[in-house]
This record gives sequence, structure tokens and C-alpha cells, in this order.
Amino acid sequence: MLPVKDAESIILNLVKSLKLEDTEIVGLDAAVGRILAAPVTSKLDFPYWDNSAMDGYAIRYEDVKDSNPNNPVTLEVVEEIPAGCPPKVTLTTGQAARIFTGAMMPNGADTIVIQENTQKEGNKVKILSAPQPQEFVRHKASFYQAGTPMLQPGIKIGAAEIAVLATAQCTQLTVYRLPKVAILSTGDELVSPDSPLQPGQIVDSNQYALASLVAQSGAIPIKLGIIPDKPQILKSAIKRAINSTDIVLSTGGVSVGDYDYIDRLLAELGGEIHIRSVAVKPGKPLTVATFANDCLYFGIPGNPVSALVSCWRFVLPALKKLSGLANNYQPAFVKAITRGDLRAGGKRETYLWGRLHLVNGNYEFVLAGGSHSSGNLINLAQTNGLAVVPIGEKLLAAGTEVNVMQVGLPLVD
Ligand code: AMP
Ligand code: MG
Repeated sequence: MLPVKDAESIILNLVKSLKLEDTEIVGLDAAVGRILAAPVTSKLDFPYWDNSAMDGYAIRYEDVKDSNPNNPVTLEVVEEIPAGCPPKVTLTTGQAARIFTGAMMPNGADTIVIQENTQKEGNKVKILSAPQPQEFVRHKASFYQAGTPMLQPGIKIGAAEIAVLATAQCTQLTVYRLPKVAILSTGDELVSPDSPLQPGQIVDSNQYALASLVAQSGAIPIKLGIIPDKPQILKSAIKRAINSTDIVLSTGGVSVGDYDYIDRLLAELGGEIHIRSVAVKPGKPLTVATFANDCLYFGIPGNPVSALVSCWRFVLPALKKLSGLANNYQPAFVKAITRGDLRAGGKRETYLWGRLHLVNGNYEFVLAGGSHSSGNLINLAQTNGLAVVPIGEKLLAAGTEVNVMQVGLPLVD
């Protein structure tokens, strides 16, 4: 049994990120959530030109530097410059231009006096207090210089990046294609959620859970359905999956039962098996194999909680690396105080599901009530953290600090 950390690093080393030929061009509207595949530079400076950060008056600092409420300087207002209208006049000594936020600075002006510090009198304005030199001027190129790097490849595009790209008029982007992930559920006992349940049957929840996890992480889930525990049928389903997708997730059939065929079939199909089991609970039987075409295969245990924990802990980091992200593949862990005792067997790194609460700026972990059997998925609903009990520990007592892996729901709601 491999320690969790070793399994994680073996998996991440096996993953080959998508290559530069695995890219496509998308418009801004389709870019959110995608991974940038090429650096972005803009031909435009930002700000595009000197402009005012406030409503007020564009002036020459030298004219007003000694202004004060008792001795205000009076300037002649020679122009009004709304945003979007290029100024026409060059200011000379003793002159001001009425200006509004975002409007271009007129030639000759170097400073803005906010309107709250002025008093208008006809076509004159009194400056009631002296500004700082160049105050409230947003200088051309002071935030970004044309031609310099703007966004690096390997970042995920979110709302902030979309704003930057729109501002730079970069409307076509090179992004990595979305990875394809095949999902198949193995087991003679399985039926789909919409089939009547016969005695002894179990509803296939894994297919739906894993497909939603894959979709949430920005990849394309390809649901291949329920495959019976019949070696020939299973073999051809696996073969089809590894030939058409980047990652294959199968659940069930990786344990030591008489009907657990996955490892044998992977070897028969030319797969190289790198991991067979991990010292983790739930989720001990985990098969990880690679194929000559770079497809990565995860044979995940069938128990519904084991399946999700294995995916959160091992599959999602692999998927992130594959997708072209430059870094931050590992799950996020936070330190939390556990409100109740956390118990484990001590032989495997144990993940206990529950809920993180933010209390006065500190996280507290509340273990989900009910059974922590890997077959009980009911109390997994509405959890957002997996508290980790390390190997060698049998009890983390209430009030102790624990590491909690963030999963599922957002941490703060
Ligand atoms: P296995 O890993 O095939 O030995 O299955 C372990 C347990 O998980 C058994 O109780 C299975 O019935 C159950 N199980 C297997 N696959 C699924 C699935 N796709 N959805 C829900 N439960 C499953
Ligand atoms: Mg099975």
C-alpha cells in the first residue's frame, strides 16, 4: 500500500499536460473557465491615454500650488471635456478645463482638482485648496505597456481575466481543448436510477457523481454506462474508452473479489500498472495505469464514498495538470479545530467527511452525523470537507487542530 503523498506524486508525474497542438481558438464569450494556452500581449497601452480619475478641473499645477481657502487662485474655464470627447484646447497659464471621470487630459494640464475643492463662478473657477502635483491623473501606459506580457499561458480564465482581455481588445484567445474523461460503472448488480429496482440490485450512483465532478472541473465527461462483470464485454468497453479519451474512470472491480477483473484486463490491453492500492480510507483499492497513447486509467473502488474520495484526492489533481494549468494541482487543505473526536484505525490515512464552519475567522470542523462506512453516501450530502487523520493516529480529540481537505460545496456560505 502506497502512502497517499507517494501515490499523488506518482500520478502527477504520469500525467502529460495537453500539448500546444491540443488547442483551439475561442471568443471572449466562450473563454470563462478555459485554460490559456498562449501568452497574451496587447497592442494597446492601458490607460490608453492620460485621463482624469475624478470629476473636477484639469489645471496646471504651477498655477494653483499656493492656493488655499483664504487665498484661492481663480482660473478661466476654457473648455468642458466629457468622457469620450477628445479635448480641443491646449491650456495655458491661468486656464482650466472642466473635466469628468475617464475623460482625456487636455494638453497643457498636468493635474486634476476635484470639484469638491472648487467653486464655479460663471466661466471662472476658484481653486480652494492646492492639489498634489499630477493628482488624480491616470497616466497613459501606467497600468500596462503595449507589447509587454499581459497574461501567461497556463492560467484559468475567470471574470477578472475576461475584463483584462476585453480592455486590451483581445477578443480571440488560444486555449487548451477540454480534456475528455470516460466514465464507466462496472458491476452485474448495477441499474440506472430510472430503472425499476429488482431484489439484489444497486443503483449506479457513481456514474452520475463522477460525471458531475468531471464537468464541474471543466472537462467533458463521456458516460459509457453500466458494464457487466463479463470480462469480454468489459475488455471491449475499456478498449473503446482508452482509445477515445484522455482519462478513463471506471468504478468497481478493483478489489480482490472473484468478479474484480479490471487489473487483469488492463494488463491484457497493454496497460502499464503503476498503482494497485493506496494506504487511504476510504479508497484503498486504486488502480492507476497508463497506455501507449498517453491515456491515464483510474480503476476506482465501487463504494460510492470511496469513489468520490478517490476522485477528489487523486483524479481531480491529475485532471488539472492534464488540462494545461501551470500549477496548483493539489487539493486545498485548511487547518481547522475539530468540534468532536475523530477516530481512525491508524493503519491508513483516513478521510472523514463533514462540514467546515468559519467561526470568528477560524475554521471549525463538524463531523457528519451517522455512519462513516464507505457505502453510506447519504451523509456525504452538504459536506464541504474531509478531515485527515494521519497514519499512526487513532484519535484526534475534540479541540485539536486537523487538516481538512476542501471538497464539494464552497467553504463559506
Ligand atoms: P466493488 O468495488 O465492485 O467490489 O463494489 C463495492 C461496492 O460498491 C458494492 O457494494 C457495489 O455494489 C457498490 N457499487 C459498485 N459500483 C457502484 C456504482 N456505480 N454505484 C453505486 N454503488 C456501486
Ligand atoms: Mg463489483
